[in-house]
Amino acid sequence: MIDLKKIKATVEGQRNRITTKLKRLRSEDPFSSEDRSIIVEPGTDANVLFGHERVVVLEQRLKKDLKEIEAALKKIKDGTYGICERCGKPIDAKRLEVKPEAVYCLKCETEIEANKGKK
Ligand SMILES: [Zn+2]
Repeated sequence: MIDLKKIKATVEGQRNRITTKLKRLRSEDPFSSEDRSIIVEPGTDANVLFGHERVVVLEQRLKKDLKEIEAALKKIKDGTYGICERCGKPIDAKRLEVKPEAVYCLKCETEIEANKGKK
């Protein structure tokens, strides 16, 4: 059996961690976060640029994680949590404990990963 309460607590904890990280990241960005469409002028300090690039990459990764976590929370609410999105079978509870945001069962994820490699 899946302990939904426990999973919800874990997922909510992860969400809090990520939003905190995102906030911190934005404050570290050498470019102002409000001005994303900033035009990089020639002669912009390479370190500043690098810092900005780093923040953008990290931010994208965190946002992707956050999306997965939000999706998991929504499923918990809807009562569809723990069902594989590909084959519709229940995802192994142990797997969900380790990776609460998983949307595929191990078998499907392995197949998806394998297909990615074939490209
Ligand atoms: Zn599956």
